[in-house]
Amino acid sequence: MIELRTPAEIQEMRAAGAFVASVLEATRAAADVGVDLLDLDALAHRMIRERGAESCYIDYHPSFGGSPFGKVICTSVNDAVLHGLPHRYRLQDGDLLTLDFAASVDGWVADSAVSFVVGTPRDEDLELIEVTERALEAGIAAAVVGNRIGDISAAIGEIAHAAGLKVNLDFGGHGVGREMHGDPHIANDGRRKRGLPLRAGLVFAIEPWFLRGTDKIYTDDDGWTLRSVDGSRGAHSEHTVAITDDGPLVLTARG
Ligand code: MG
Repeated sequence: MIELRTPAEIQEMRAAGAFVASVLEATRAAADVGVDLLDLDALAHRMIRERGAESCYIDYHPSFGGSPFGKVICTSVNDAVLHGLPHRYRLQDGDLLTLDFAASVDGWVADSAVSFVVGTPRDEDLELIEVTERALEAGIAAAVVGNRIGDISAAIGEIAHAAGLKVNLDFGGHGVGREMHGDPHIANDGRRKRGLPLRAGLVFAIEPWFLRGTDKIYTDDDGWTLRSVDGSRGAHSEHTVAITDDGPLVLTARG
């Protein structure tokens, strides 16, 4: 079901967006060579408790997950790109890390992700991250009244194709509201002028993610972490966005 939020509700959702942004900023700042992924999860967990927020992940157990997630942040390293389950692992120089975080504040959810390199970057990793960020910007720019969902998908896909990347259509953007995942689904490739007409009050996560060498993924033995089949690295950029009559409002914008 597609739900529309009133301007007052979108104002309320800004608190969740700001909190999610603050957790990603803090965990990114803490993610250094030698830091353990479990320490990043502990930091996010502490911030959730201090804020009186609720984790969207810890009890999350959809059909594709092996068991309840059990952690509060996704940490995907190198060939892992989505749903990375934090485990005992110390970050190494040059690791490409994606942090994906969703939480509920005062009953409203926000969801956001960022990729970056820990320590000394490789040029090709910076390029991949830059493409996902540019695709996210293009998707957000297309999130305006008068367009359709397909315009967002096409804007994202065009950036990927221009960079020579293939697009996986199994996981993409989604409605965000009282729950983390709702309608509509927003594929990371598609055709302009197709799909749901965009209206003020729609709130959703836009989340391009790409792998350097493939569009195929498999699930790690941990039951959650999604990795590239060819070992190539992945990157992921996500914001929760509200469509307003004044244009797209990025609820999870970082400072
Ligand atoms: Mg997310």
